[in-house]
Amino acid sequence: MAAPTSSHFALPGWKPGSRSGLARRGLMLVLSSPSGAGKTTLSRRLLAADDRITMSVSVTTRPPRPGEQDGKDYFFVSPERFAALRDNGELLEHATVFGNLYGTPRQAVEDALSAGRDVLFDIDWQGTQQLDQSAEQDLVKVFLLPPSAADLEQRLRTRAQDSEDVVQQRMSKASDEISHFTEYDYILINQDVDDSLGKLTAILQAERLKRRRLTGLASFVKDLRDAL
Ligand code: 5GP
Repeated sequence: MAAPTSSHFALPGWKPGSRSGLARRGLMLVLSSPSGAGKTTLSRRLLAADDRITMSVSVTTRPPRPGEQDGKDYFFVSPERFAALRDNGELLEHATVFGNLYGTPRQAVEDALSAGRDVLFDIDWQGTQQLDQSAEQDLVKVFLLPPSAADLEQRLRTRAQDSEDVVQQRMSKASDEISHFTEYDYILINQDVDDSLGKLTAILQAERLKRRRLTGLASFVKDLRDAL
């Protein structure tokens, strides 16, 4: 069978199109946290509030949870297909998390960035380290912390999608994940989702204005000066 390509992994709800204003390269916003810190809710809120950012949809070998949709939450693939994508260089980064393989399809992200579209990533510290090596200039790294250990445990239990074993596993992994906080640019303590969303939006707005992302700046300033 021919090797699958990343062009199968289109980002949801986005078509290349025209944009207005100063040309800008998109940025990669990574949001990492231990499981249960509220990352999924915050990501959804950001995506609903801002139509210039798109979620990167990862490939994974983990089975779907109830309610998860292929192509929306993840692309659910076999270990063989995952290995083919990885070996063909079609993943921007990949890691093993809780015994399953996860990876970011490369092409969809690169297309979005060069079209001036921002991409949100829900990936762990291992993937973030890899993106730091390959795409440091495009990367904005945000780490979400729970306000307390009790809060994290409660959120993991009320989520109730995982077995007790998995909850225990995630609790013991949380401390390892949190130990990587120093590798991130921004830290949000997720006491209140509205407050966190406001802060995340502020980070995004400021990062969008970084001079190095404004690819059309030289000609914009030239036109400005020519007119003076
Ligand atoms: P879950 O199975 O609960 O959806 O995700 C488990 C963990 O895998 C989360 O911490 C999530 O951030 C991480 N993860 C999801 N997709 C990717 C990916 O493409 N790459 C990496 N490195 N981690 C991922």
